Amino acid sequence: MKQVLSLTIMVEPDRRRLAQFAIEAVRAAGGNVFATAATLDAILGGLRQAGTSAIEPAHAEITVDDDRMFLSWNEHHDLLSVLPARLSDTELNKLTERFRRASESTDPELLRRRNQEITAELERAKARAAAELAGLEAALDRKKNELQESIRVAETDSLTGLINRGAYDARLQEAVARCKRQRETLCLMLLDLDKFKEINDTHGHQYGDEYLKRMAQAMRASVRENVDLPCRMGGDEFAIIMFTDKANTRRAAQRILDKMERRTSIGIADMQPQDNATTLVARADAALYEAKHQGRGRYVDSVPVMPQPMRGQA
Ligand code: GH3
Ligand code: MG
Repeated sequence: MKQVLSLTIMVEPDRRRLAQFAIEAVRAAGGNVFATAATLDAILGGLRQAGTSAIEPAHAEITVDDDRMFLSWNEHHDLLSVLPARLSDTELNKLTERFRRASESTDPELLRRRNQEITAELERAKARAAAELAGLEAALDRKKNELQESIRVAETDSLTGLINRGAYDARLQEAVARCKRQRETLCLMLLDLDKFKEINDTHGHQYGDEYLKRMAQAMRASVRENVDLPCRMGGDEFAIIMFTDKANTRRAAQRILDKMERRTSIGIADMQPQDNATTLVARADAALYEAKHQGRGRYVDSVPVMPQPMRGQA
């Protein structure tokens, strides 16, 4: 007895496929196809009644024994066809190979198992990808933090912790552009400690350093945190970009003077429509110079910019 085909029957289309395989097998073996069709009707009717559900699959086989072809399913064993001649081993093997290929691509049990394997492999790949992605995201976060930290260090004056000259230049340009675009108020305060050289000479450089830190603290404490931007320009020169009007800027300047026992001079300029960053700085600088000139320990407002008379006018 040689098994030619093995197939699991789970749902209706599998039953019809089994019938087709059976007819093909009989035809390939030279048997009477019409007689087989009638036999199949009777056999497969029984298979239908036996109930072929997806939960309890029936197992069907086509076998050849001498010159007889049989169809078996579960405990049933039916004669399918009496063949005109006994098939040689080569013919049988050819037939087996042919149905093996055909049934492998259609066997629902096989397909279900393959589907399970593919699903499991996909799940494993998904888990691997998720783990890899989580790793990459963590690495990216670390890099971002490192980058942010190095930017912060590059923008910070190490002695006072204020933002340094380079960052100040960039922030002032941004602030001026935003002020022009959105018609917001903007003021610039430039500050220079009075007679700081004397403080250094009298008390030493280390004391001078502490004094610079104290100035930074006085500036921070006199403006709005995370809004206005106190900066150290270098040496004993400082600046504050004030996102407010002149009255508030004056009040902040006065607070700094009080905290520093009036030992600093301050120039204030408020952004005018015709200003750019350069002219704003120049006007604040001129006001600072004026504060020094008037005797130090005070703030001075910049003079308003007069509109330039047009050529040909008086
Ligand atoms: P003025 O009132 O005209 O501003 O007089 P001043 O003595 O403050 O003159 P100036 O601004 O020219 O002097 C600044 C001094 O600040 C000179 C320098 O020795 C000192 N200095 C600059 N950077 C530092 C620093 O990081 N630490 C200390 N301790 N001193 C510094
Ligand atoms: Mg000075």
